[in-house]
Amino acid sequence: MTMKVYNTLSKRKEEFTPLEEGVVKMYVCGPTVYNLIHIGNARPMIVFDTVRRYLEYRGYRVEYVSNFTDVDDKIIAKAVEEGSTAEEIAQRYIAECKKDMEGMNVRPATKHPLATQEIGGMIEMIRTLIDKGFAYPSSDGTVYFRVKKCAGYGKLSHKNLDDLQSGFRSLQVSGEGQKEDPLDFVLWKPKKEGEPSWPAPWCDGRPGWHIECSVMAKKYLGDQIDIHAGGEDLIFPHHENEIAQSECCNGKPFARYWMHNAFLNIDNRKMSKSLGNFFTVREVAQEYDLQVLRFFMLSAHYRSPLNFSRDLMTAAKNGLERIRTAAEHLRLMKDQGADGPLTKEEENALEQAEGFTRKFQEAMDDDLNTADGIAAVFELVKFSNTQVTEGSTKLFAEKTYAVLETLTQILGLILEVKEEILDQEIEDMIAQRQAARKAKDFQKADEIRDALLEKGILLEDTREGVKWKRV
Ligand code: AMP
Ligand code: ZN
Repeated sequence: MTMKVYNTLSKRKEEFTPLEEGVVKMYVCGPTVYNLIHIGNARPMIVFDTVRRYLEYRGYRVEYVSNFTDVDDKIIAKAVEEGSTAEEIAQRYIAECKKDMEGMNVRPATKHPLATQEIGGMIEMIRTLIDKGFAYPSSDGTVYFRVKKCAGYGKLSHKNLDDLQSGFRSLQVSGEGQKEDPLDFVLWKPKKEGEPSWPAPWCDGRPGWHIECSVMAKKYLGDQIDIHAGGEDLIFPHHENEIAQSECCNGKPFARYWMHNAFLNIDNRKMSKSLGNFFTVREVAQEYDLQVLRFFMLSAHYRSPLNFSRDLMTAAKNGLERIRTAAEHLRLMKDQGADGPLTKEEENALEQAEGFTRKFQEAMDDDLNTADGIAAVFELVKFSNTQVTEGSTKLFAEKTYAVLETLTQILGLILEVKEEILDQEIEDMIAQRQAARKAKDFQKADEIRDALLEKGILLEDTREGVKWKRV
């Protein structure tokens, strides 16, 4: 069985075959970094990290590129507001975004390029587009893409040029009169006072947003890639324009499969910074383990809108706990079960457990149906709770655990949580150790020291008293 993915380009589920055997080249549009990311931004991160994990499980090597847009009007506005620089703002929020990604167990991309580090490539691509007649500079130095020259424009968003044209005519904004056609979009724009800018043949200025991704995909993955992904708001104009730029420049089809996640909503409206109806990942982390957020996101199909609510988060929390409790029981049985080989019954039962793996795979092969995948994990949990009991062998527990671990790792769920020890708990244990020493109960004092070390806390007895540090 091969995997099927829904391709926005054809509006159908298609069998997934990469360009090069065994390798998948994947580009996911990343966030604009001017603030902490909200949980709407987290949806594509979690979804496409799961696509990546599943493809790796299926035996592919995945080259996963995801950019940070670090030059943009919103970043500049924030810098002005804070009396800082765009670079400082971008650096700060890239670092914060990486912390959130780690919390959500979203693996770092193979490469996270920054737009500001790729300006040379952008100038190069714009030059090629001008040379080939697909772009033109206007008298003020702005470079536009000539949309009507590009055959097939509109193929991703399934829009036709006439409809676009009438929509745009009424929207035409002042200052854009230099365009040959209202459909044309910006590739390079002149600098404004106090804004970051780079020298270019047409004027000192900065790139348009769409050209960034075409250039970074080309540089780090090549002219042709397998999967290009992002949230569905990017289909038009961002991805449509990326296709136009890349295909007109490179003369080859750009991405084979276009995957888009639906919105994360709140009260059935898109969560967004501009509407102000958002929660940051950081806010959610104060109340929930971010693994709960990940589980919540994956409990729905990625192409279905998902409404964020406390009830659904509670359901996700309970679901995750059910899986973790089963895992804990299995770990205990791995230690305390009977020695020796599998019994006949256990061998048969394990075949049943393999059946859950098959169900999981079928679900994930069907356009990453994580909701059904999670249902298969729950069946395995039920199996484990009823079949791995007192008297089971260690080996049986071990093998059941291995199946559970494989499936949950694909979903990016962590089975074993290292309890974070709070400062106050450490102080309390140190006080107990001091009391034990005073009572000359050195064995107990040592036990407490060892218990702390197990939790990653190293004690140091100094003349000023006991000091501790996290190791
Ligand atoms: P932005 O920083 O707005 O460019 O967004 C970064 C990524 O988050 C893009 O792939 C967007 O499509 C996605 N995104 C933004 N808001 C939402 C939302 N409410 N639900 C799902 N995806 C979103
Ligand atoms: Zn992009």
